[in-house]
Amino acid sequence: MELKILGSSSKGNGYVLEAEKEALIIEAGCKLLEAKKAVGFDISKVVGCIVTHQHNDHAGYAQEYTKAGVVVLALNSVIESKKITRNYKAIEIGKGYVFGNFKILPFEVMHDVPCVGYLIEHPECGKVLFVTDTYAIQYRFTGVTHWLIEANYADDILTENILEGRIPQAMRKRLLTSHMELNNTKEVLISSDLSKTRNIVLIHLSDGNSDERRFIAECKAATGKCVTAANTGMVINFDVIPV
Ligand SMILES: [Zn+2]
Ligand SMILES: [Zn+2]
Repeated sequence: MELKILGSSSKGNGYVLEAEKEALIIEAGCKLLEAKKAVGFDISKVVGCIVTHQHNDHAGYAQEYTKAGVVVLALNSVIESKKITRNYKAIEIGKGYVFGNFKILPFEVMHDVPCVGYLIEHPECGKVLFVTDTYAIQYRFTGVTHWLIEANYADDILTENILEGRIPQAMRKRLLTSHMELNNTKEVLISSDLSKTRNIVLIHLSDGNSDERRFIAECKAATGKCVTAANTGMVINFDVIPV
Protein backbone atom coordinates (compact mmCIF):
# COMPACT_ATOMS: atom_id res chain seq x y z
CA MET A 1 0.00 0.00 0.00
CA GLU A 2 1.18 3.47 -0.80
CA LEU A 3 -0.07 6.79 0.46
CA LYS A 4 0.09 9.47 -2.20
CA ILE A 5 -0.40 13.06 -1.17
CA LEU A 6 -2.18 15.33 -3.64
CA GLY A 7 -2.44 18.25 -1.22
CA SER A 8 -2.59 18.83 2.53
CA SER A 9 -3.43 22.41 3.45
CA SER A 10 -6.18 25.00 3.34
CA LYS A 11 -5.41 25.27 -0.41
CA GLY A 12 -6.73 21.75 -0.99
CA ASN A 13 -6.67 18.33 0.60
CA GLY A 14 -6.41 15.05 -1.26
CA TYR A 15 -4.81 11.71 -0.38
CA VAL A 16 -4.78 8.39 -2.22
CA LEU A 17 -4.38 5.01 -0.54
CA GLU A 18 -3.20 2.87 -3.42
CA ALA A 19 -3.20 -0.88 -2.95
CA GLU A 20 -2.02 -3.31 -5.58
CA LYS A 21 -5.41 -3.66 -7.27
CA GLU A 22 -7.55 -0.86 -5.87
CA ALA A 23 -7.33 2.68 -4.55
CA LEU A 24 -9.28 4.82 -2.13
CA ILE A 25 -9.27 8.61 -2.35
CA ILE A 26 -9.53 10.59 0.88
CA GLU A 27 -10.96 14.11 0.47
CA ALA A 28 -12.06 15.83 -2.73
CA GLY A 29 -10.25 19.12 -2.27
CA CYS A 30 -7.89 18.56 -5.21
CA LYS A 31 -8.85 18.31 -8.88
CA LEU A 32 -9.85 14.91 -10.21
CA LEU A 33 -6.93 15.17 -12.65
CA GLU A 34 -4.50 15.04 -9.71
CA ALA A 35 -6.15 11.89 -8.36
CA LYS A 36 -6.11 10.37 -11.84
CA LYS A 37 -2.39 11.06 -12.19
CA ALA A 38 -1.78 9.36 -8.83
CA VAL A 39 -3.37 6.11 -10.04
CA GLY A 40 -1.69 6.16 -13.46
CA PHE A 41 -4.93 7.32 -15.11
CA ASP A 42 -6.56 3.97 -14.25
CA ILE A 43 -9.72 5.45 -12.69
CA SER A 44 -11.32 1.98 -12.66
CA LYS A 45 -8.92 1.20 -9.81
CA VAL A 46 -10.65 3.79 -7.60
CA VAL A 47 -13.24 2.16 -5.35
CA GLY A 48 -14.46 5.43 -3.85
CA CYS A 49 -13.70 8.78 -2.29
CA ILE A 50 -14.37 9.57 1.37
CA VAL A 51 -14.89 13.19 2.38
CA THR A 52 -14.74 14.65 5.92
CA HIS A 53 -16.78 17.86 5.58
CA GLN A 54 -18.18 20.53 3.30
CA HIS A 55 -15.36 23.11 3.29
CA ASN A 56 -13.96 23.58 -0.19
CA ASP A 57 -10.42 22.57 0.72
CA HIS A 58 -11.91 19.10 1.42
CA ALA A 59 -15.00 18.87 -0.80
CA GLY A 60 -14.60 21.53 -3.50
CA TYR A 61 -14.31 18.96 -6.28
CA ALA A 62 -16.68 16.34 -4.85
CA GLN A 63 -19.25 16.89 -7.60
CA GLU A 64 -16.56 16.52 -10.27
CA TYR A 65 -15.60 13.16 -8.74
CA THR A 66 -19.16 11.85 -8.68
CA LYS A 67 -19.74 12.99 -12.27
CA ALA A 68 -16.73 10.91 -13.31
CA GLY A 69 -18.32 7.87 -11.67
CA VAL A 70 -16.40 7.91 -8.38
CA VAL A 71 -18.70 7.08 -5.46
CA VAL A 72 -18.37 9.67 -2.70
CA LEU A 73 -19.01 8.83 0.95
CA ALA A 74 -19.89 12.00 2.86
CA LEU A 75 -22.19 13.62 5.38
CA ASN A 76 -25.57 14.92 4.17
CA SER A 77 -24.28 18.47 4.68
CA VAL A 78 -21.65 17.77 1.99
CA ILE A 79 -24.07 16.09 -0.42
CA GLU A 80 -26.50 19.02 -0.13
CA SER A 81 -24.05 21.92 -0.19
CA LYS A 82 -22.10 20.48 -3.14
CA LYS A 83 -25.32 19.66 -5.02
CA ILE A 84 -24.37 16.02 -5.49
CA THR A 85 -27.20 14.08 -7.10
CA ARG A 86 -25.66 10.71 -7.97
CA ASN A 87 -22.86 8.29 -7.07
CA TYR A 88 -22.89 9.07 -3.37
CA LYS A 89 -23.44 7.39 -0.03
CA ALA A 90 -24.69 9.55 2.83
CA ILE A 91 -22.99 8.77 6.13
CA GLU A 92 -25.00 7.37 9.01
CA ILE A 93 -22.88 7.74 12.13
CA GLY A 94 -22.30 4.40 13.82
CA LYS A 95 -22.40 2.52 10.51
CA GLY A 96 -19.42 0.98 8.75
CA TYR A 97 -18.89 1.05 4.97
CA VAL A 98 -17.12 -1.25 2.54
CA PHE A 99 -15.36 -0.04 -0.62
CA GLY A 100 -13.56 -2.95 -2.31
CA ASN A 101 -11.40 -4.42 0.44
CA PHE A 102 -11.39 -1.16 2.40
CA LYS A 103 -13.51 -1.17 5.57
CA ILE A 104 -14.40 2.33 6.63
CA LEU A 105 -15.75 3.62 9.90
CA PRO A 106 -16.68 7.33 10.08
CA PHE A 107 -16.78 8.98 13.51
CA GLU A 108 -17.72 12.48 14.58
CA VAL A 109 -15.09 15.13 15.25
CA MET A 110 -15.35 18.76 16.37
CA HIS A 111 -15.10 21.45 13.71
CA ASP A 112 -17.13 24.59 12.99
CA VAL A 113 -19.35 22.60 10.59
CA PRO A 114 -20.34 18.90 10.80
CA CYS A 115 -17.21 16.84 10.23
CA VAL A 116 -16.05 13.23 10.51
CA GLY A 117 -12.79 11.36 10.91
CA TYR A 118 -12.24 7.90 9.43
CA LEU A 119 -10.83 4.61 10.62
CA ILE A 120 -9.85 2.72 7.47
CA GLU A 121 -8.83 -0.94 7.39
CA HIS A 122 -7.31 -2.88 4.51
CA PRO A 123 -5.32 -6.13 4.52
CA GLU A 124 -2.32 -4.37 2.91
CA CYS A 125 -2.03 -1.44 5.34
CA GLY A 126 -3.77 -2.51 8.55
CA LYS A 127 -5.57 0.30 10.38
CA VAL A 128 -5.23 3.85 9.09
CA LEU A 129 -6.62 6.68 11.16
CA PHE A 130 -7.53 9.84 9.24
CA VAL A 131 -8.47 12.87 11.27
CA THR A 132 -8.43 16.54 10.33
CA ASP A 133 -10.27 19.82 10.90
CA THR A 134 -11.16 19.23 14.53
CA TYR A 135 -10.10 20.95 17.74
CA ALA A 136 -10.14 17.72 19.74
CA ILE A 137 -10.42 13.98 19.26
CA GLN A 138 -12.79 12.42 21.74
CA TYR A 139 -12.03 8.79 20.87
CA ARG A 140 -8.94 6.66 21.26
CA PHE A 141 -8.09 3.84 18.87
CA THR A 142 -5.97 0.75 19.35
CA GLY A 143 -3.71 -0.97 16.86
CA VAL A 144 -3.43 1.92 14.41
CA THR A 145 -0.61 1.16 11.94
CA HIS A 146 -0.59 4.49 10.10
CA TRP A 147 -1.81 7.88 11.32
CA LEU A 148 -2.87 10.82 9.22
CA ILE A 149 -3.49 13.39 11.91
CA GLU A 150 -3.91 17.15 11.79
CA ALA A 151 -1.30 19.35 13.45
CA ASN A 152 -2.56 22.74 12.30
CA TYR A 153 -0.92 25.35 14.49
CA ALA A 154 1.19 25.97 17.56
CA ASP A 155 -0.29 28.33 20.10
CA ASP A 156 2.97 30.24 20.67
CA ILE A 157 3.45 30.87 16.93
CA LEU A 158 -0.18 32.02 16.66
CA THR A 159 0.24 34.36 19.64
CA GLU A 160 3.37 35.92 18.12
CA ASN A 161 1.60 36.38 14.77
CA ILE A 162 -1.30 38.14 16.50
CA LEU A 163 0.98 40.37 18.60
CA GLU A 164 2.90 41.41 15.50
CA GLY A 165 -0.30 42.14 13.59
CA ARG A 166 0.23 39.47 10.95
CA ILE A 167 -2.99 37.72 11.89
CA PRO A 168 -6.23 39.24 13.23
CA GLN A 169 -7.18 38.46 16.84
CA ALA A 170 -10.46 36.91 15.65
CA MET A 171 -8.46 34.12 14.04
CA ARG A 172 -7.57 32.75 17.48
CA LYS A 173 -11.19 32.19 18.41
CA ARG A 174 -11.85 30.37 15.17
CA LEU A 175 -8.79 28.14 15.41
CA LEU A 176 -9.49 27.25 19.05
CA THR A 177 -12.83 25.79 18.03
CA SER A 178 -11.95 24.28 14.69
CA HIS A 179 -8.38 23.00 14.29
CA MET A 180 -5.80 20.87 16.09
CA GLU A 181 -3.10 22.61 18.08
CA LEU A 182 0.28 20.87 18.20
CA ASN A 183 0.10 19.94 21.91
CA ASN A 184 -3.33 18.48 21.32
CA THR A 185 -2.01 16.30 18.50
CA LYS A 186 0.86 15.13 20.71
CA GLU A 187 -1.51 14.40 23.58
CA VAL A 188 -3.75 12.25 21.37
CA LEU A 189 -0.73 10.32 20.11
CA ILE A 190 0.87 9.65 23.48
CA SER A 191 -2.44 8.65 25.06
CA SER A 192 -3.07 6.11 22.27
CA ASP A 193 -1.84 2.57 21.74
CA LEU A 194 1.11 3.01 19.37
CA SER A 195 2.39 -0.56 19.62
CA LYS A 196 1.56 -1.29 15.96
CA THR A 197 2.27 2.19 14.61
CA ARG A 198 4.67 2.49 11.67
CA ASN A 199 3.96 5.98 10.37
CA ILE A 200 2.65 9.20 11.79
CA VAL A 201 1.90 11.69 9.04
CA LEU A 202 1.05 15.19 10.21
CA ILE A 203 -1.48 16.83 7.92
CA HIS A 204 -3.13 20.20 7.25
CA LEU A 205 -0.31 22.34 8.71
CA SER A 206 -1.20 26.02 8.64
CA ASP A 207 0.94 28.17 6.33
CA GLY A 208 1.61 30.89 8.87
CA ASN A 209 1.01 29.33 12.28
CA SER A 210 3.08 26.16 12.05
CA ASP A 211 6.71 25.12 11.78
CA GLU A 212 7.09 21.85 9.93
CA ARG A 213 10.54 20.88 11.26
CA ARG A 214 9.61 21.65 14.83
CA PHE A 215 6.26 19.81 14.58
CA ILE A 216 8.00 16.70 13.24
CA ALA A 217 10.75 16.86 15.88
CA GLU A 218 8.32 17.33 18.77
CA CYS A 219 6.01 14.49 17.67
CA LYS A 220 9.02 12.23 17.09
CA ALA A 221 10.36 13.00 20.55
CA ALA A 222 6.96 12.40 22.14
CA THR A 223 6.28 9.08 20.40
CA GLY A 224 9.60 7.60 19.27
CA LYS A 225 7.92 6.83 15.94
CA CYS A 226 8.60 7.70 12.30
CA VAL A 227 6.96 11.12 11.79
CA THR A 228 6.55 13.06 8.54
CA ALA A 229 4.61 16.13 7.49
CA ALA A 230 2.43 15.77 4.42
CA ASN A 231 3.46 17.72 1.34
CA THR A 232 2.09 17.62 -2.20
CA GLY A 233 3.66 14.89 -4.31
CA MET A 234 4.91 12.77 -1.42
CA VAL A 235 4.58 8.99 -1.61
CA ILE A 236 4.85 7.02 1.65
CA ASN A 237 4.96 3.25 2.06
CA PHE A 238 1.90 2.22 4.04
CA ASP A 239 2.37 -1.54 4.24
CA VAL A 240 1.60 -3.38 7.45
CA ILE A 241 5.04 -4.97 7.71
CA PRO A 242 8.19 -3.03 6.84
CA VAL A 243 9.59 -3.96 3.43
ZN1 LIG B 1 -9.46 22.32 6.10
ZN1 LIG C 1 -12.71 22.82 7.54
